[in-house]
Amino acid sequence: MKILVFNCGSSSIKYKLFDMADESVLASGLVERIGLEGSVWTHQPRGKDKVVTNTDIKNHSIGIQLVLEALTDTKHGVIASMKEIKAVGHRVLHGGEKFSASVLVSPPVMKAVEECIELGPLHNPANIIGINACGELMPGVPQVTVFDTGFHQTMPQYAYLYAIPYEAYEKYSVRRYGFHGTSHRYVSQRVAELLNESISNLRIITCHLGNGASVAAVKYGECIDTSMGLTPLEGLVMGTRSGDMDPAIIPFLMKKENMTAEQMDNYMNKKSGVLGVSGVSSDFRDVETAANNGNERAELALEMFAYRVRKYIGSYAAAMGGVDVIVFTAGLGENSISMREKICNGLEFLGTSIDPVKNNIRGKEQEINVDGAKVKIFVIPTNEELVIARDTKEICSNLA
Ligand code: AMP
Repeated sequence: MKILVFNCGSSSIKYKLFDMADESVLASGLVERIGLEGSVWTHQPRGKDKVVTNTDIKNHSIGIQLVLEALTDTKHGVIASMKEIKAVGHRVLHGGEKFSASVLVSPPVMKAVEECIELGPLHNPANIIGINACGELMPGVPQVTVFDTGFHQTMPQYAYLYAIPYEAYEKYSVRRYGFHGTSHRYVSQRVAELLNESISNLRIITCHLGNGASVAAVKYGECIDTSMGLTPLEGLVMGTRSGDMDPAIIPFLMKKENMTAEQMDNYMNKKSGVLGVSGVSSDFRDVETAANNGNERAELALEMFAYRVRKYIGSYAAAMGGVDVIVFTAGLGENSISMREKICNGLEFLGTSIDPVKNNIRGKEQEINVDGAKVKIFVIPTNEELVIARDTKEICSNLA
């Protein structure tokens, strides 16, 4: 069964075509700068040369059409006909409280996804366009939506509510939703497999550390808390996002700097975090290089990042009454040897310690704690697309 997975962002489309017989990737690619000048499309068919195309791509529908043509192209394609694609899975950012699991696309589902636009104004519209475009271009092919928020829907109310008047929740659905759910779900399940242990016996803290970053407490297979909130702004220090801060700073700075609500939102989401503190970059590689060259603010930004992650690990250990495994994933978590070390230094009280030799790896599955540690530490490359493909397969295999 061949399954195509799409992750449509506000100006991008990521895709992967899976052969679910062995879960291998037949082709993958990225269309960037959709609707802007200078769109770039990178297509990697398995066993063939990568193709990079620079051509303006006006909208997501055109982008998806080009991707479908490329998959069946005699030169760059990997399948003979579109008929080979049995189902399409889509990453959808926000499912609000309506979706705790992946579902088959239908008119009521699409209506509910549209109702969540208010909660995910940048991503949900692109996700919807992607689903509609596939519906038009591949009539009759079943589609599945996999929500970034779904895995976190098991949080108890005392963890997901904010201590503001209850009416804000009732009237406007203001609560913690959490994001990166597909990634937290994948790595927590994968680490249980690697430990040859049932996930229902494990208390796992998953650290998804990329440009956007979040931590989740996964107790006996269910998420009980996560660091991102109503939006992805809350929690950890991120590439360009502030994460947690005193909410009173917002009106204070708006008055001082004469900012509108929109400008303030942009300030916290796009100008803060590691970029804002270091003044160097939002890319951790640049910040690490600057810190190594003696830039004190770059060093400070990295310390702040590590300290915030460590605080969350400590608080989630308390939330779960202990911790058995800590997992690092995503761009930084998978690749930054020094950041993993910075975060773990100071966690010895939990019964763990990082092994510098085992930690000396990038982008591969490995246990990195010292031998015999009570709490295991793992690096696990995330694979959100595979989760989407598996959910899609499961849902579509049961169709009559
Ligand atoms: P993601 O959002 O998961 O794609 O992660 C992107 C972030 O991971 C960027 O800030 C990168 O700087 C960071 N990253 C990727 N590779 C490395 C590396 N080798 N060392 C440090 N940071 C890295």
